[in-house]
Amino acid sequence: MEKLLTLPGVARKTANVVLGTWFRKAEGVVVDTHVHRISRRLELTTNDDPQKIEQDLMRIIPRDRWILFSHQIIWHGRRVCIARKPKCVDCPLENICHAADKTWSTVDMHKNAKA
Ligand code: SF4
Repeated sequence: MEKLLTLPGVARKTANVVLGTWFRKAEGVVVDTHVHRISRRLELTTNDDPQKIEQDLMRIIPRDRWILFSHQIIWHGRRVCIARKPKCVDCPLENICHAADKTWSTVDMHKNAKA
């Protein structure tokens, strides 16, 4: 990690991708725009700063899941929990999600969510 961070243009996100995906070393959790958005929607963090979000995720996600977690959340963000109009009707996490911008819900407190 320390050596990667000395390279021009490389910050923790890129270093975590290289270490996790190429070297299979879990030194941190990748926080890109999808992980940022979905971690907040799922209340895994209340922070807005990527480094603080990463610290929150590292506290609650078991280390042996850090690499896979990022890939799963990034794909979830590309396919279902998209930024502008999440496809909540297709989401397997819908019943545990209390995001303010949900578009559909089975949960009473979100019954006014509109697709
Ligand atoms: S229910 Fe909607 S907002 Fe919540 S995680 Fe699923 S797609 Fe995202």
